[in-house]
Amino acid sequence: MSAPKARPRVVVAGLGDSGLLTALHLAGSADVVGISAKPALVSGQELGIRLTRPDDWARDYWWGFDRLRGLDRVRTVHGTLTGLDLATRTVRVTDADGARLVEPFDVLVISTGVSNGFWRRPGLQSDADLELDLRAAHDQLAAAGSIAVVGGGAAAVSSALNLATTWPDTQVDLYFPGEAALPKHHRRVWQTVSARLAARGVGLHPGHRAVVPEGFACDALTREPVSWSTGQQDVVADAVLWAIGRVVPNTGWLPAELLDESGFVRVSPDLRVLGTDGVFAVGDVAATDPLRSSARNRADKLLARNIRAYLAGKPLADYTPPKRRWGSVLGVQRNGLEVFAPSGRAFRFPAWTIRTVLQPLIVRRGIYRGVRPPT
Ligand SMILES: Cc1cc2nc3c(=O)[nH]c(=O)nc-3n(C[C@H](O)[C@H](O)[C@H](O)COP(=O)(O)OP(=O)(O)OC[C@H]3O[C@@H](n4cnc5c(N)ncnc54)[C@H](O)[C@@H]3O)c2cc1C
Repeated sequence: MSAPKARPRVVVAGLGDSGLLTALHLAGSADVVGISAKPALVSGQELGIRLTRPDDWARDYWWGFDRLRGLDRVRTVHGTLTGLDLATRTVRVTDADGARLVEPFDVLVISTGVSNGFWRRPGLQSDADLELDLRAAHDQLAAAGSIAVVGGGAAAVSSALNLATTWPDTQVDLYFPGEAALPKHHRRVWQTVSARLAARGVGLHPGHRAVVPEGFACDALTREPVSWSTGQQDVVADAVLWAIGRVVPNTGWLPAELLDESGFVRVSPDLRVLGTDGVFAVGDVAATDPLRSSARNRADKLLARNIRAYLAGKPLADYTPPKRRWGSVLGVQRNGLEVFAPSGRAFRFPAWTIRTVLQPLIVRRGIYRGVRPPT
């Protein structure tokens, strides 16, 4: 009898939204090692809910890895990736206890995402650190009598609406550079969402481009006056939330030749990293298209199929990105969850379906393959 064939070893670098889902798909057919600076899935989704209703957000977007049934077959390493050696096919990691590890791979998935504001940071964090971060931002905003939200993307718009809904006595103003916010969505989305913001009393201020203070990485709530390069008077608020989309790819651990001029990972349409063999990238870190949209378009499924095809010597398929952003902008509200299609048209999950169908069946069972209750 011949010895059983060794299973390929797949290292998933970064267990956020895309890396985690990729690991779940591959756990049945490969020995998967997931490396993460956090001991949990801490989703990059729904900033507005996170800031205003942290318990609701944590229930749906922050899950310890031990709660995910599909990860039972994945070895997770809580640590920081510090290097990739293509010649020896290994990654270097410093784990949470400070030990230096070397993890060999047959296939590597790069999914270390981006840093954005104070809510998405790549550094090593424990559960207690995550809890502190979550509460600190919420408490600071809860105590503010006025909040200026700077930015015109989904994070800014969602924050403004949720802040105004949760704290109706707080003056919330949204400042954005163009005539309309959400410029990467279909224009219908802003038409719908701006009416919702106005109904909640959010002050809308188009044509405002903020001067970012020298040396400020937009990674904290501030209290200093905000100046505008577009000429308006300075604005003062008890709290200023910077959500200007200043994302920085978490690629400091990678060789420079794998990166484009902005530091994102260069990939071919089938998600292979250019100039490598058996190295793939997915999610916000991967320069797939101008919107780097592979996370929200669930390219994790295609990636898992392509990795299996690569290992079997079969042809790989391409990722085809939609031209416009789509998805939820405002998060779950009292009347349900509105999701905007690329055409700008909205479809709504009614409120009663969120906790009976959407979360338990579609998200937890369907997408994440079973999530245990918290212990
Ligand atoms: C099911 C689903 C639904 C979505 N719905 C929407 C939607 O409706 N609207 C919308 O706008 N977007 C949506 N998105 C997309 C989402 O907003 C982001 O694009 C997504 O969070 C990015 O995922 P990521 O895995 O690339 O990055 P992240 O989730 O940020 O994961 C990166 C991980 O890598 C870790 N890391 C970074 N550097 C290191 C290092 N050196 N060492 C170790 N770990 C490191 C980070 O700590 C983090 O845990 C959705 C995504 C998914 C999967």
